Amino acid sequence: MEKTKSEAQKLKEELFLSRKHGGLLLSEEELSAAQDYCEDYKAFLNRAKTERETVELTITMAEKAGFVPFEIGKAYQPGDKIYYNNRKKAAIFAVIGTDPIEQGVNLMTSHIDSPRLDLKVNPLYEDNELALFKTHYYGGIKKYQWTAIPLALHGVVVRSDDTTLTVTVGEDENDPVFCVTDLLPHLAADQVKLPLHEGIKGEQLNILIGSHPFRDDEASERVKLNLMRILNEKYGIVEKDFRSAELTIVPAFKARDIGFDRSMIGAYGQDDHVCAYTSFSALLAAKSPKRTAVCVFSDKEETGSNGTTGLAGSFLSFFLENLAAAYNVPGRIVMSRSKCLSADVNAAFDPNFPEVSEPRNNCFVNYGAVITKYTGARGKSGTSDASAEFAAEIQHLMDRENVLWQTGELGKVDQGGGGTVAFCTAELDIDTIDIGVPVLSMHAPFEVTSKIDIYSLYRAFVAFIG
Ligand code: MN
Ligand code: MN
Repeated sequence: MEKTKSEAQKLKEELFLSRKHGGLLLSEEELSAAQDYCEDYKAFLNRAKTERETVELTITMAEKAGFVPFEIGKAYQPGDKIYYNNRKKAAIFAVIGTDPIEQGVNLMTSHIDSPRLDLKVNPLYEDNELALFKTHYYGGIKKYQWTAIPLALHGVVVRSDDTTLTVTVGEDENDPVFCVTDLLPHLAADQVKLPLHEGIKGEQLNILIGSHPFRDDEASERVKLNLMRILNEKYGIVEKDFRSAELTIVPAFKARDIGFDRSMIGAYGQDDHVCAYTSFSALLAAKSPKRTAVCVFSDKEETGSNGTTGLAGSFLSFFLENLAAAYNVPGRIVMSRSKCLSADVNAAFDPNFPEVSEPRNNCFVNYGAVITKYTGARGKSGTSDASAEFAAEIQHLMDRENVLWQTGELGKVDQGGGGTVAFCTAELDIDTIDIGVPVLSMHAPFEVTSKIDIYSLYRAFVAFIG
């Protein structure tokens, strides 16, 4: 028998914001759909660890789904699917809507670069008969997290004959892997007294890559010589080819389920591949959207979104201008009437570190996609702060479409802060709001997300595309 609710109880239900774990709200079918969806997501993570790999993989997937390269000057028809490859490191995918382009487009922007260790331009050296690579870290990392874990080498080398070599070593079970060595605790008496950020310094992030000498008693640097001999035989490269190469070191491990209940995923690069994958798969699933739907993958977010492939650059506005020009519509009209979900992750409440969070406004694992009205540090510095009108429009859409979502703010006020690519589209006069999933151990080599949240984010993009 149902208990009669008190007056206060009824009023509370009517007036208070209530939050509930997705595991209690989602149906059995939805929970199992989330599990299935994340199998493909894990496979995607394993195949696309760098921006170049992500562009290559998604363009292959898009072509299979009928997308064709964007042609400047062509007026596309509703339902047409196009893509633009920006220097193999950033990309735009679009499905043309039935509404005329001058009514604006619906954008989903994410970034496909993740924190890592880039090789320096003169990386290879020998020290006490060990061969190593010098690195320069990329993005915000806690340096100590990159020691004593298996690492893989990814990237491209343009050889002296202008042929391009694509390198992936450390991903196949039979490949060797690499590592950064750390000091044994027995001799770390001085190191462990250092502040955490000084325990491992940037110039100590050197990658161990070999130890056998070239068998010649006369030569110096015999280990380096032996390494260069192997690289030359295998890849046809010489040392000077490193000067132009883009080689990067990423964790060698694969995406795995976390927990006895398999409710979470642990993997490298979920910031921001989780948003790239969910927005891209929502676009692939789009049938015939009213407004043109555009999925944007940007590079260089972790270093400030600068450069030709960063979203603060011009590639997105040029694309939209070129798309609009074919209909004789000024690009600025399209942009001013466009809407953007800036897709990036937020920091999940971590019971190990409650002191950095303000739990009333933090996001929580398993409470759904997280909509972040504003980002920034200190006095919201660097934020694009979505308007009340646009925030409400998106939030009400999520409610109508029954998408599990929550709000989020990155930690306590004055604890730190951060930004996303939101400012880039906002500066194009496009209404923009952040959306993503909560992440534990963000920017670590092994980041943790929840399957319910990932699936909810996918559903949020599906709802947005319409
Ligand atoms: Mn991010
Ligand atoms: Mn990040």
